[in-house]
Amino acid sequence: MAQETADAASGVTLPRKSTWNWHPELPLQDHSVFNLKRGPVAALKVLWGSWLPISDRLIVVAVSFLTWFYLSPSLETAQAFAWDWVAAVYFRNLALMLLLAGGMHLYLYTFKRQGNYLRYDARPFHKKSALFTFNSQFRDNVFWSVASGVTVWTAYEVIGLWAYANGFMPVMEFASSPVWFVLWFVFLPVYGVFHFYWIHRLLHWGPLYTHVHALHHRNVNVGPWSGMSMHPVEHIGYLSSVLIHLVLASHPVHFIFQLQQKVLLAVSSHAGYDAVTAGEGSDKGLKVGDFFHQLHHRYFECNYGEPEVPCDKWFGTFHDGTEEATAQTRARLKEMRRK
Ligand SMILES: [Zn+2]
Ligand SMILES: [Zn+2]
Repeated sequence: MAQETADAASGVTLPRKSTWNWHPELPLQDHSVFNLKRGPVAALKVLWGSWLPISDRLIVVAVSFLTWFYLSPSLETAQAFAWDWVAAVYFRNLALMLLLAGGMHLYLYTFKRQGNYLRYDARPFHKKSALFTFNSQFRDNVFWSVASGVTVWTAYEVIGLWAYANGFMPVMEFASSPVWFVLWFVFLPVYGVFHFYWIHRLLHWGPLYTHVHALHHRNVNVGPWSGMSMHPVEHIGYLSSVLIHLVLASHPVHFIFQLQQKVLLAVSSHAGYDAVTAGEGSDKGLKVGDFFHQLHHRYFECNYGEPEVPCDKWFGTFHDGTEEATAQTRARLKEMRRK
């Protein structure tokens, strides 16, 4: 699908064939729910398509219900901190991380089950580079995802369950508010994108970038383990969108869903592939990748949010994949470095 040079109809220059191994149709369009020019019907279709018939976030809803019903302490237990249930939450989260990131890495990069099919950037990961902890991109990414990622994720979850159990966070039951109960699942990911845009912009501010966010940006080319490879301060900021539950009533399953959605979908969206398929050339698969964010890893000062809430479009930092957007982004980067 790699294309070259001028697209006469739209007057833009598409990247050279060598820039990407594969990319979606360019320039990227604003398909968000908030693109009011296309009218409410198109917006609803976008929303529908982001969930059904099957999507990564629908799978996370299922995982969060299974987690709440079978793999979580009761609120009665969570009333007081105790090592046994805290450790159980930690090891369950560790298992989820190992299963997803480890499984995707094995499938896509160790056994190469779909070759370079639908892979954005076919360059190999760094095996020996002083830039990375332990001189290896893979080991660096596993270390930060587990040592910091799983720990901060678990800390938020444990404190959240304790807060519900002790009445510090308002609880909503399905029986009393079934409509709100369902709508929360739709609203939370959208709110998460809005929150991410602002946290991420802050992380690109001089000292915070140098001391914190540069760790995630060691990865110009990304794999599943890169998604949650962040500095602990970034993990705390990135997952802080769950603080919304302090003021709006929700059920613990919403809280668990929101954390899992932020963590597990960060892993899958950094897969480096647009979709995980049944094999090379197969059109059966699950869309996981995020070319919009892949552009952020390649060019830095663009696409701070996610396409779903087009803050980048509203605030002039949108990279649509064209050479013109690359030139603008490079100029912005130069300007920021001069300050
Ligand atoms: Zn960044
Ligand atoms: Zn990233």
